[in-house]
Amino acid sequence: MSVLEKLSSQGAIALEEKYGAHNYHPLPVVLTKGEGVYMWDVEGKKYYDFLSAYSAVNQGHCHPRILDALIQQSKSLHLTSRAFYNDMLGRFESYVTSFFGFDKVLPMNTGAEAVETAIKICRKWAYEKKNIPEQQAKIIVCENNFHGRTTTIISFSNDPDARKNFGPYTPGFVKIPYDDLTALEKVLKEEEHIAGFLVEPIQGEAGVYVPSEGYLKQAKQLCEKHDVLFIADEIQTGIARTGEILAVDHCGVKPDMLILGKALSGGVYPVSAVLANDHIMEVIKPGQHGSTFGGNPVAASVAIEALSVVEDEKLATNAKELGILFRAKIQEYIDGSSIVIEVRGMGLLNAIVINDSEQSDTAWNVCLKLKENGLLAKPTHGNIIRFAPPLVITHEQLLECVSIIIKTLKEFEV
Ligand SMILES: *Cc1c(COP(=O)(O)O)cnc(C)c1O
Repeated sequence: MSVLEKLSSQGAIALEEKYGAHNYHPLPVVLTKGEGVYMWDVEGKKYYDFLSAYSAVNQGHCHPRILDALIQQSKSLHLTSRAFYNDMLGRFESYVTSFFGFDKVLPMNTGAEAVETAIKICRKWAYEKKNIPEQQAKIIVCENNFHGRTTTIISFSNDPDARKNFGPYTPGFVKIPYDDLTALEKVLKEEEHIAGFLVEPIQGEAGVYVPSEGYLKQAKQLCEKHDVLFIADEIQTGIARTGEILAVDHCGVKPDMLILGKALSGGVYPVSAVLANDHIMEVIKPGQHGSTFGGNPVAASVAIEALSVVEDEKLATNAKELGILFRAKIQEYIDGSSIVIEVRGMGLLNAIVINDSEQSDTAWNVCLKLKENGLLAKPTHGNIIRFAPPLVITHEQLLECVSIIIKTLKEFEV
């Protein structure tokens, strides 16, 4: 079959089914075009995107400014490797460090690579700056975390699907419950050789769990007290998604290491990064870490433009205001609903909890109906549906989406 031949949805699904590894279970929709908050399937049906590629497409699909950066830069220079300098990387490094307020950045490509990078820097810092004995450094992580799919990262996951039969696992991680300061303090006091605390400011994949007020702030203070690096994985929560540029900005916390990915490029290109100040980043010397594609000129150019768009279009403010409206409207519905228990979230990272067991397929069926009604969303864990539209969504569009969601949920009321 020619790659240029027009495909029906069924045809495209059949190809993936036959030739692709079955490591995903997609909703049965085949998309061919995107613009702003909309996507179109191969039959021409138009949908609101309420996943935004797991919050990578915060700036909206096919943003002309970001695409222009991609195209212009690709035409002049796309990859040199880091064996040589290029004239875009330094510009990106200077832009991104001033944007987020850190001394230095280490650029990578995917989120998981950035998390791996943070783990390596944290361990090296622990041996060289904190004098933890060799091979002994431990990093505290949270139950129900999601930090990516590499062998080390899944070693400290507690999702059986992510973990089972991928061992032996990387040691050196201590798991505590999320949003539990007592547990954090206990480990910091009682265990030796703790180097860092790796945390999602809101647990996105787990089902949009927002921690209690004061949790992040006090966790940071505990880390400071015990000379432990506070590492924020803002791959999903960062870049305006929750109504501030970073989720930690809501509580005035400055992480020791900040991990970014996804919307750092507007979802146009894989760009991720770790930011930290000199006293931490300086432990990494030539030859000790790297990536062929990390920091390439296209990535640099795209990321600068993607961040400028966030600022110029005031996407954080839009996410904050429309998030409040969204939760208020859905809450109004829930008050008289038997099918939805809860709406929660921050900014435009929200989720509803369906009144059914985690094993039930109600949430999946709701998503199938939402698709029929012109809105694409996906269950996270069992009975939870995440709602995360591109942040360029307007007030009017959001209200239309709320009515699609409510109309759909009504079909499931008993
Ligand atoms: C998506 C995500 C990752 C992994 O990013 P990839 O680009 O898929 O490797 C890590 N952490 C969080 C919080 C994420 O949401």
